[in-house]
Amino acid sequence: MVFNIKPYERKIFELIQLSANELNVPVYVVGGYVRDRLLARESKDLDVVCVGDGIALAENLASKLRPLPYIAVYKRFGTAMIRHKELEIEFVGARKESYSLDSRKPAVENGTLEDDQNRRDFTINALAVSLNEDDYGQIIDSFNGFHDLENKIIRTPMDPDKTFADDPLRMMRAIRFSTQLDFTIEPITLKSIAKNKNRINIVSKERISTELEKIILSDRPSKGFKLLFDTGLLHLIFPEMAALYGVEIRNNIGHKDNFYHTLEVLENVCREGANLWLRWAAILHDIAKPPTKRFDPILGWTFHGHEALGAAMVPRIFKKMKLPLDNKMKYVQKLVLLHLRPIALTNDKVTDSAVRRLLFDAAEDIDDLMTLCKADITSKNEGKVNRYKENYKVLMEKIKEVEEKDHLRNWQPPISGDDIMRIFKLPPSREVGILKTAIREAILDGEIPNDYGAAYQYMMEKAKELNM
Ligand code: ATP
Repeated sequence: MVFNIKPYERKIFELIQLSANELNVPVYVVGGYVRDRLLARESKDLDVVCVGDGIALAENLASKLRPLPYIAVYKRFGTAMIRHKELEIEFVGARKESYSLDSRKPAVENGTLEDDQNRRDFTINALAVSLNEDDYGQIIDSFNGFHDLENKIIRTPMDPDKTFADDPLRMMRAIRFSTQLDFTIEPITLKSIAKNKNRINIVSKERISTELEKIILSDRPSKGFKLLFDTGLLHLIFPEMAALYGVEIRNNIGHKDNFYHTLEVLENVCREGANLWLRWAAILHDIAKPPTKRFDPILGWTFHGHEALGAAMVPRIFKKMKLPLDNKMKYVQKLVLLHLRPIALTNDKVTDSAVRRLLFDAAEDIDDLMTLCKADITSKNEGKVNRYKENYKVLMEKIKEVEEKDHLRNWQPPISGDDIMRIFKLPPSREVGILKTAIREAILDGEIPNDYGAAYQYMMEKAKELNM
């Protein structure tokens, strides 16, 4: 079988061939690049394997490129990387790997192309294209990877138990590829993931999170989460989410399965083009339902306070997963905390002041909060869903109206803490806080208009009341 080399690849492939020829080493393009090109997916990472010294090959190629490219050499790993036009070209010598029980870092020795293909994780990642003169462009497919590509199958080239036990990160990669490419994990491979799941504990949290992020960012992340759950990996890497699974019935009253509900909400925000952090907010919006669940003989199942406890769980979960603890985490936390607020405002009697408060609390994230809330409507009853959606439309209009009137997005009260300290000649103190809050609340409640004069007068009255 021949690889259809595109005009834009010809020049660089021929230069790689020439460079390898001069060093007398056989050379191949391998891995993800071949896979993605055969799937007509874009790929900017070109992996090149030679049977010899990968660094020497990279240096020889670099000397032929104009302008002289950036080249990074990793002596310890025997690899080098060249940036050329929009490509990142990675060079490595063919190698053979052997693993020990307690680590996913293998002992490495030089090997043949076949050894190198043997160490790859999936058949679809073990395809190679020859760049050598005598069989230039031939696809070398030792494990029927092409067949698996056509049939959309993820399968390990060797015994899956050994593949996954050697490097358990591959279990996450299998599920990630299955989600990204919408491929099926072949049953024996899938069973082996369930069997070897505990090995995931030797993989670093950062690597697990990188794979999880790729699952979350794919078109249909729920597929990945279901696979993670079914194999038991989710219970190990993200137990809080696995705990959402299941329905309890008491006095003939059940509640919804919050795992599947969460996945539906996640799919809904994806359909709206959500970025990674809004996706995380969807994943975490009900995360505290299991620990807040109670059965009340009159009300049935309740989850009181799940939004506040959920918000408190966000930093803990992010920390454990080695996710950033900066504004991105704060954004997710805020959406989790506020996710019930708009629902409370979808009735006819909603006041301007309630809307103003929501706008103040959500500030620049109000649109994302509304996207999350709309996504949260997942009833099977179509009439109900449409009714709720209609209510949200009314609320959105109300928000727009109040916003245009009061300009509350990113709003700061007209008198700041500094102003108060200056006017009353006060040091930073409790009194300053009291006055500041009183002014803000009066404006949000609509007691006084949102301007300096009114705020000043109100502050003076308040100060008198407080004997200041
Ligand atoms: P993506 O670019 O989407 O992450 P990829 O397959 O290109 O996908 P890389 O991590 O760049 O992923 O890996 C390149 C190639 O190296 C893979 O196609 C595969 O052949 C091999 N590989 C990567 N990680 C592993 C692993 N943990 N075990 C075995 N082979 C691996």
